[in-house]
Amino acid sequence: MASGDLGHQHTRDYLETSNHTSNLFGLLSNNLVLYQTLPYLPVSAILNIAATSRPFRDLLLHGTPSVFRHLDLTQVKTAQFDIDGIDHGGQVWRNVQVDENLTEDDFYSGPLRGIFSSLRRRNILQDVGTLVLDGLSVTSEFLNDILIDPESRVRILSVREVKNLNERKLMQSLRYACRPSRTEGMPRLKALYYFGKKDAAPLLAAPPAAQSAATPRGANISAGWNQKSQQSLKESIAGDGDDWYGRKGRVINKRIIDGWAETLLDCREVLQFDTVLCTGPRHRNSPAFGKTPVTPASANGGSPWGVATFAVGGCASCGSAPEGFTVYGSARQQDLPLLSPVPLHSSNVKSATRPAPTTVNNLNGQHEFVPRCLECIRERYCFSCNQWWCEACYQVPSREEMTLQHVHIVDEANGLNDHELAAFEQPKVKVRMGYCHDCVLKVTPR
Ligand SMILES: [Zn+2]
Ligand SMILES: [Zn+2]
Ligand SMILES: [Zn+2]
Repeated sequence: MASGDLGHQHTRDYLETSNHTSNLFGLLSNNLVLYQTLPYLPVSAILNIAATSRPFRDLLLHGTPSVFRHLDLTQVKTAQFDIDGIDHGGQVWRNVQVDENLTEDDFYSGPLRGIFSSLRRRNILQDVGTLVLDGLSVTSEFLNDILIDPESRVRILSVREVKNLNERKLMQSLRYACRPSRTEGMPRLKALYYFGKKDAAPLLAAPPAAQSAATPRGANISAGWNQKSQQSLKESIAGDGDDWYGRKGRVINKRIIDGWAETLLDCREVLQFDTVLCTGPRHRNSPAFGKTPVTPASANGGSPWGVATFAVGGCASCGSAPEGFTVYGSARQQDLPLLSPVPLHSSNVKSATRPAPTTVNNLNGQHEFVPRCLECIRERYCFSCNQWWCEACYQVPSREEMTLQHVHIVDEANGLNDHELAAFEQPKVKVRMGYCHDCVLKVTPR
């Protein structure tokens, strides 16, 4: 094609150019290419391509059962719950039958239920193995239906940062679905992403205003594609690796309400989450429970179980932890957290827990971490340098002992006076107010 034709080319739909169409068709007819490619496309793009011609429709909607294996509805416009849209009779409700018997659940899950019945009619729903609903309006009733629906094939479900969800009801549903007397083979769901932050939105689905109206559909798809793969490339280069294994410190920012630890406990061996139980020796599930004295004795009456929100490495003194590390490859599968992003090319829980091969984080080449709740690293962990001192190596001084030492938290302008520094330098106190000795010195002018 002569370069002068390029401008003209842009005015036509990329996919309707016979050359491009047959090239694309040729490519997608290759199953390997098709399966690698489809997860990167939003469902609307797949349906758009299918709508361009009968061969595409046959290929995508009738010939290939796993086209919708990975279904990400986060960027689908009709899935957004928009209260203004409802007030103004907006399109959010176009799939919902509104009547006076409307329940709260009908109201908040209306947009998703509408999409689901349309997917069911097209026989798409039965193929979905991974369902991503991050950030949408998702009720506990809706999730309960997925959990107990014998037709549902969803094995990986992501509902991070969703709206209008009753957490306590969700816990009840999960504990019920995983109860010992459950039907064999149920629930089909094996992995629930709930606690972490949603994955970065694919640039493909930038708001329509940001896209030129004249940009051909095909060009949009490939541009989004490029940006998305560049983005994951950047992440793999710049990042320290996966959360938990590679990146240490706070992994879960969400506030953990009471009941979640017990829910994780009741669901283990059945369902995995994007966090795990804390293994600190104060908890009953810890291999070190009853073997390592814990100080301070029990800040919260010694909660039997805790949800891990931090990943720490080996203790600064002994290099390990009383309970040992959670090591990928030798830990039980049920003790591994699901990792972000949600896997694109598989709906298998094992691939969701597999750390990237490049993120080796210790000298012997293992992927490992120690999962801890905040209570179990309090006054042991430095928020500045991520060092910590384990229960076996370090007894946190009692409140009275701390007060006697007159150690004050550092004020960046003045720092500690010599007397105060001397008190801090006693080996007795490793961490004060979230900072270790070294990090305190760094902000204290001498
Ligand atoms: Zn130690
Ligand atoms: Zn803990
Ligand atoms: Zn420090």
